[in-house]
Amino acid sequence: GVRHEPTNKIVLDLEKLYDQSSEDLAYVARYARAIQQQRGDYNGRVLSIRADDLRALAIVYDFSPSALVERLTEAGVTVADPRSLFNS
Ligand code: C2E
Ligand code: C2E
Ligand code: C2E
Repeated sequence: GVRHEPTNKIVLDLEKLYDQSSEDLAYVARYARAIQQQRGDYNGRVLSIRADDLRALAIVYDFSPSALVERLTEAGVTVADPRSLFNS
């Protein structure tokens, strides 16, 4: 049957992202705040972002989208499986 791969959906850990003092991720944090505002989504610990927005952000950092994802993952501000946050 069809294998359900973990999707490539980008899910940000907002707690970690907003705690980051690293100058580096300031634009990502600002972007996430803007998305929360547009969605009226203020209660989440995590935020799923659009692939399109990831592409736009990558341009700001002069990275490829996948390099930006790598950078975010290294910084520990992405969540591979958001459900795991709620079952631990
Ligand atoms: P919109 O793009 O016209 O989307 C209207 C509504 O469709 C959204 O309301 C949301 O309920 C739903 N929707 C659209 N695309 C998706 C999707 O990929 N997944 C899911 N789960 N739902 C989707 P919402 O969330 O209140 O957003 C209102 C408006 O704020 C959106 O209108 C859009 O203009 C903007 N917005 C919200 N989130 C984002 C975002 O992550 N990126 C961008 N560029 N704009 C966003
Ligand atoms: P999931 O995508 O793995 O998300 C797991 C949980 O992470 C969600 O539980 C929610 O608490 C949190 N989460 C993920 N993205 C966001 C976000 O952008 N904002 C906020 N505030 N929380 C987020 P939840 O809501 O009980 O959803 C469980 C599952 O139901 C989701 O698993 C997903 O598979 C599905 N689902 C929920 N809402 C949507 C939706 O708008 N679109 C789609 N396609 N699936 C959805
Ligand atoms: P998701 O809700 O599971 O949606 C997965 C993909 O389905 C989206 O990837 C997009 O390609 C498509 N899709 C879902 N709903 C719509 C829609 O109303 N209009 C259009 N044109 N396409 C739609 P994408 O864009 O990379 O978004 C990834 C995740 O980011 C979404 O997963 C959702 O969790 C979140 N998201 C994106 N845009 C919005 C939004 O406007 N409002 C909210 N609340 N969540 C959003």
